[in-house]
Amino acid sequence: MTAEIISGTQIRKEILAEIKEDVEKMKEKHGKVPGLVTILVGSNPASQSYVTLKIKTALSLGFHEIQDDQPEDISEEDLLALIEKYNNDDDIHGILVQLPLPDQIDDKKVLNAINPDKDVDAFHPVNVGRLMIGGDEAKFLPCTPAGIQEMIVRSGTETSGAEVVVVGRSNIVGKPIAVMMAQKGIGANATSTIVHTRTKDLAGHCKRADILIVAAGVPDLVKPEWIKPGATVIDVGVNRVGMNEETGKAILKGDVDFEAAKEIAGKITPVPGGVGPMTIAMLMKNTLKSAQWALGDI
Ligand code: NAD
Repeated sequence: MTAEIISGTQIRKEILAEIKEDVEKMKEKHGKVPGLVTILVGSNPASQSYVTLKIKTALSLGFHEIQDDQPEDISEEDLLALIEKYNNDDDIHGILVQLPLPDQIDDKKVLNAINPDKDVDAFHPVNVGRLMIGGDEAKFLPCTPAGIQEMIVRSGTETSGAEVVVVGRSNIVGKPIAVMMAQKGIGANATSTIVHTRTKDLAGHCKRADILIVAAGVPDLVKPEWIKPGATVIDVGVNRVGMNEETGKAILKGDVDFEAAKEIAGKITPVPGGVGPMTIAMLMKNTLKSAQWALGDI
């Protein structure tokens, strides 16, 4: 039987509509809306396009949005002072610094200067610690793992007691999603295993997964025979495997052999149109939450 496709494009639409409704309620109740500042240093074209997408989404939801572009040669001291200004601005609930930063600036120092309560990317060590503690402590969840968990929940996949295998141990995807799935709570209570480049029997681990989450960055790494029949497969990988000569756009492929896997899995995410569209939606959700906390609504 062919698997049900979990569409990130569709779920993203639902989440953004829910956020928009909450923003309207906030405006009515408090006369305030969530505030997001995006800080872009220099003019890296990929960074510019990511930032533009974030700004467009924030504006479409009715957020107060500040686009604060800075020159390539800004000093670390000036950038830290700028972050401090937004840390102290009550109308700003989320601060985003687009990476990479130029060589004269220490990325870590800058990200760690963001007030953890406005760190909507959830990369600050305080938020990583809160995620480990779990429950109400986990103020913001990192956006890609939060998007993955949301897709698992909204697709009706049972997680309690499920075997979850995560391929990849990065700080932004693999490690956090494995911890989140093992926590107590909705869309969690699973038994998590992380596998990586040094794992002895990758196929064997994948084969026993009720939920297989793949974030390796290797096209077609997961073969159809590694998938347990009926499993939910979440493919996080985004790999450029060529160029469409007609459109001039990159051809993208996931880490799972989708065409073959969809004949074995019960549910599966496509690439593109799967996890990718979820990340910015979850960033917006974190910004809304931050504003709701600041206003005492949650
Ligand atoms: P990363 O390179 O930091 O980590 C990859 C991990 O996969 C490593 O821990 C490595 O041990 C493991 N790995 C690599 N090759 C392997 C192999 N052959 N066998 C077993 N394990 C292997 O990558 P990342 O930042 O976690 O991203 C992973 C993929 O997800 C990339 O394709 C990236 O583009 C994509 N991604 C997508 C989104 C999104 O859609 N929003 C967000 C983040 C990352």
